[in-house]
Amino acid sequence: MSGEQELGITESKEHSTGEWYAEVVQKAELADYAPMGGFIVTRPRGYAIWERIQDHLDGWFKETGVDNAYFPMFIPESYLEREKDVVEGFDPEVAWVTHGGYDELEERLAVRPTSESIITPFIADWVRSHRDLPMRLNQWCSVVRWEATETKPFFRTKEFLWQEGHTAHRDEDGAWDETMTRLDQYERLYEDVMAMPALKGRKPEHDKFPGAHTTTTIETLMPDGKSVQAATSHYLGTSFAEAFDITYADEDEEDQTAHTTSWGLSWRSMGALIMLHSDDQGLVLPPTLAPTQVVIVPIWQEDNKEEVVEYAADAAAELDEAGIRVNLDDRDNRNPGFKYNEWELKGVPLRIEVGPNEVDDDELTLVHRPDGENSVEDRADIGDTVEDHLDTVYAKLYASAEETLEGEIREADSREEILGTIGQHGGYVKTGWCGDEDCEEPIKDALAAEIVMVPLDRDEDPVHDDCAICGEDARVTAYWAKSY
Ligand code: AMP
Repeated sequence: MSGEQELGITESKEHSTGEWYAEVVQKAELADYAPMGGFIVTRPRGYAIWERIQDHLDGWFKETGVDNAYFPMFIPESYLEREKDVVEGFDPEVAWVTHGGYDELEERLAVRPTSESIITPFIADWVRSHRDLPMRLNQWCSVVRWEATETKPFFRTKEFLWQEGHTAHRDEDGAWDETMTRLDQYERLYEDVMAMPALKGRKPEHDKFPGAHTTTTIETLMPDGKSVQAATSHYLGTSFAEAFDITYADEDEEDQTAHTTSWGLSWRSMGALIMLHSDDQGLVLPPTLAPTQVVIVPIWQEDNKEEVVEYAADAAAELDEAGIRVNLDDRDNRNPGFKYNEWELKGVPLRIEVGPNEVDDDELTLVHRPDGENSVEDRADIGDTVEDHLDTVYAKLYASAEETLEGEIREADSREEILGTIGQHGGYVKTGWCGDEDCEEPIKDALAAEIVMVPLDRDEDPVHDDCAICGEDARVTAYWAKSY
């Protein structure tokens, strides 16, 4: 890449969201396309964001009784078949290994599309009595789903990184609490780490994870008005425990069937993060996840270079000491304007400018990435000052996302109104719904919008008394949206 122009983003977020997103991902050096369609290469700047997401979640999982483990990436066909007692499952999306070297395998091996069918039999083996429960396992790994629909870096790839949690409990209450604990942790990740307000709900019956009793979901709204299924937590009831024989002896030595859960968050979360916050200058990241939180750009003339750079280096050292991820950009083959653009493109949340004036006045100029707001601050206590500014940047990102979400939940009470409202504005439309899958069809056919969630609380009264499509009694509120 040679000139300044090619470095910058050329597509518009508002007018060509898909192209703009692809450009941000590549030019901010997060990912590249792999030679096989539907696969990506994650570059260090992208992987560093995923590692931070991992760190947060992994810490919370461990605080709440989860142990990490690792199971093979291949699953014997006969294991996957056992799952069929419960569900048809992932058949069309499974990639198969048929040969080892030149020799055909006696039994085909599936590349895991998810690991219930290999983890559950081991849980069944390891659980003997009520004292072994709850058992909570998680693995960080990649899975492969041969997605038929169009792929998009991080949002939908054929191989994706995720965590999958699998737990077994004595009874429904224990398993349901677990399902909610994980859903709440996902919500916390979005709200407190990713600056993304989220909606919590459950999937309609016809869109549950195969074999699940209840699929709960976190949904986030993208600026183009489409919803993202941002994480899911499933209460599996006893279906998997029955298929794989997870039984335990209770206090009276009676055999009981366990209740299980599974829950997962993938790097789709990163895709949603990038798409929500970034702009036509490039990547925007919350300070919580940014690999570099602060960049210091010294601005010098030949006659004051030494003192300006020294002053900047001194501030950088102090920030580093305070635990802030700081980068001093003292390259002398690039001018300050070029550096500003580059760090904006790469999503550094806070820029500090240091010129001879700042040196003379014992000050620093701080510039926020999301909106360019700048302020001059005392050099003293710069660690605390920068922390405050990073908090402010986070709050700005959250507030603007919240404003978008709040204005994008509308009501409708007829098929025409659903179509008109989503067609014109995007976002969510709430309606009464009878619960019949057939009522989703006309909206799906006309607009590719669907029911992305219904409220968690099964007893909550629907927004309207009648189903907006068929006019029968409404049983629940449906949230309709186009989705990624
Ligand atoms: P599931 O096991 O189907 O409930 O998936 C768990 C989570 O993984 C979903 O909530 C999605 O956010 C995410 N996910 C599913 N398919 C993909 C994919 N092809 N690429 C990236 N993330 C995915």
